[in-house]
Amino acid sequence: MPSKQRDSRHHSDAPGGPVDRIAELIAPLRVRPGTKVRLPRDFDPGHTGDLVNKRAGAELLQRGVAMLADYQARLAAEHRRGLLVVLQALDAAGKDSTIRHVMSGVNPQGVRVHSFKVPSAEELDHDYLWRYAWRLPARGEIAIFNRSHYEEVLVVRVHPALLDNEKLPPSVRTRDIWGHRFRAINEFERHLSETGFRIVKLFLNVSKDEQRKRLLQRIDRPEKNWKFSAADLQERQFWDDYQQAYSDMLSNTSTEWAPWYVIPADHKWFARIAAAATIVHALMELDPQFPSPDPQARRELAQFRRALEEE
Ligand code: AMP
Ligand code: MG
Repeated sequence: MPSKQRDSRHHSDAPGGPVDRIAELIAPLRVRPGTKVRLPRDFDPGHTGDLVNKRAGAELLQRGVAMLADYQARLAAEHRRGLLVVLQALDAAGKDSTIRHVMSGVNPQGVRVHSFKVPSAEELDHDYLWRYAWRLPARGEIAIFNRSHYEEVLVVRVHPALLDNEKLPPSVRTRDIWGHRFRAINEFERHLSETGFRIVKLFLNVSKDEQRKRLLQRIDRPEKNWKFSAADLQERQFWDDYQQAYSDMLSNTSTEWAPWYVIPADHKWFARIAAAATIVHALMELDPQFPSPDPQARRELAQFRRALEEE
C-alpha cells in the first residue's frame, strides 16, 4: 500500500491518468490573456465537458478532493508559497456550496475563507485594496476569497452610488477609473506572484434562467429561506449590466500570472469538479515538497532517536 505522499507522485507521472484528465478538463475554461470576452456568447453555463452526468463525474471529484488535501499538506510543510483562490459570481451561482464541497477533505488549519460584504466605514476610509490585502494568505496557507477585490469593478461599477461612498478626491475620479482599477489589480496580483503567491481566479458562470430557478427554491424550501434576500431580486434587474461588467473584467484582468477560469455553473456537480480541478492544477504546477532534513539535522535526529531508545 503506497503512502499518501507516494500516491500523488505516482499519479502525476501516469500518462492518461487524473493529471492529464484535469489539464484537459480545465483548458477550455481558461480565458486566454488578451482576448476580448463577451458573455454570454463566449461561455456556456451549461457546459459539462465530456461528462454526461453527476455519477460519471463522482470519481473524478473524489480524486480531486483527495489530491487537494495532499497538496495542501505539502504546501503547509514547505512553508514557502501560498495560494489565493478568488471566487466571483452572481447571486445563487453556488459559491458557498462550491467551497464546502471542494474543501471538504482539507485540513481546516491550512485554509482560511474570507467572505467580503459591503465595506465598513473603516474600510471605506482606506484605498479600495486595503481590506483585501490584509486578508491575503501567508506562506504555507490557502486563502479563499468569497467575493474579492473584483467587486470593485463589478458591483461598484454597476451601481455608481457605491463609488460615492468611497470618498475619492475628485481629481482621481476620472473617466478612466475602471481602466486604472484593472491596471492596479493586475499589478497587485503580479506583485503577489513575484513573491511566491499563486492566484487562482474562478468565475462561476450561471445562466439567467438557472438563477431564477434557484431563487425560487430559496423561496419554496423552508430550509433555504434564510438564503433568500430581496436584494438578490433587485440585482437580477441589473443582469445585463453585470454580464457587461463581468465581460470587461475577464477581458482586462486575465493575465499570464493570474488567468481567469470561467466555471460553467448551471450544473452544480460539474462546477464542483471544475473548481476542484482548477485549484489542483495550480497546486500541481507549484508542486510543493515536504522539506527533507539536511545532513546536520539528520545526525541530530539520529542522536535524539538513540537517547529515546536508551531511556
Ligand atoms: P452575500 O455574498 O450574498 O453575503 O452578499 C454580500 C453583498 O456585499 C453583495 O450584495 C455584494 O454586492 C456586496 N459587496 C461585496 N463587496 C462589495 C464592495 N466592495 N462594495 C459594495 N458592495 C459589496
Ligand atoms: Mg447573497
